[in-house]
Amino acid sequence: METDYGYVDGNAAAGPLQEILAVEPTTVRGQCSHCGNTAMLADTRVYFRAPGLVMRCRSCGSELLSLVATAQGTWLDVSGLSCLSIPADDA
Ligand SMILES: [Zn+2]
Repeated sequence: METDYGYVDGNAAAGPLQEILAVEPTTVRGQCSHCGNTAMLADTRVYFRAPGLVMRCRSCGSELLSLVATAQGTWLDVSGLSCLSIPADDA
């Protein structure tokens, strides 16, 4: 239900988010928020020596994202990415 302020609750984003989160992640392009380099996630550097995994920019070495699984849940930090570009199904 839309509020008087022109927005709805987060449940409205469930369908679109479910669609983009179901893509082949290595085909997604990400932009480094530090140096601006854009590359497919498959072309980054991944380190497994940290708790979980850390993905770093191949251009500047900054952390793009980290993924850590704990007993309470999985944590995904994408603060090192300024944006993600997900290819269309027929691209
Ligand atoms: Zn970078």
